Amino acid sequence: MTSPKNRSNSVRKVKRRTPQGTTTIYKRRVKGMKHACAVCKGNLHATHSLPSLPKSARHPTRIYGGNLCHMCTGKAIIYAQRVKDGSMQETEVEILLLPYVKPLLKK
Ligand SMILES: [Zn+2]
Repeated sequence: MTSPKNRSNSVRKVKRRTPQGTTTIYKRRVKGMKHACAVCKGNLHATHSLPSLPKSARHPTRIYGGNLCHMCTGKAIIYAQRVKDGSMQETEVEILLLPYVKPLLKK
């Protein structure tokens, strides 16, 4: 019987053909997790953890790509512009977005 560590759903089965021509099943741990937005915890699209891929295939190349989703990035940019214009105070910005809004104010 399979050992207890390999009975989990986080174990993937890999079929490999041996030099003798028989097929064996290796059990390997599933690599990594889905990348999540730092603010809303939603899934990030177009992200990958494999270091063998080119950098442009591992995360989007826009500002905060790979950290924030497109909705939260848009919010951060809008809040930064409003604070710059003076129509909004820095204290009114959502507390989770503040670390992403502050660097945009310096630009
Ligand atoms: Zn988000």
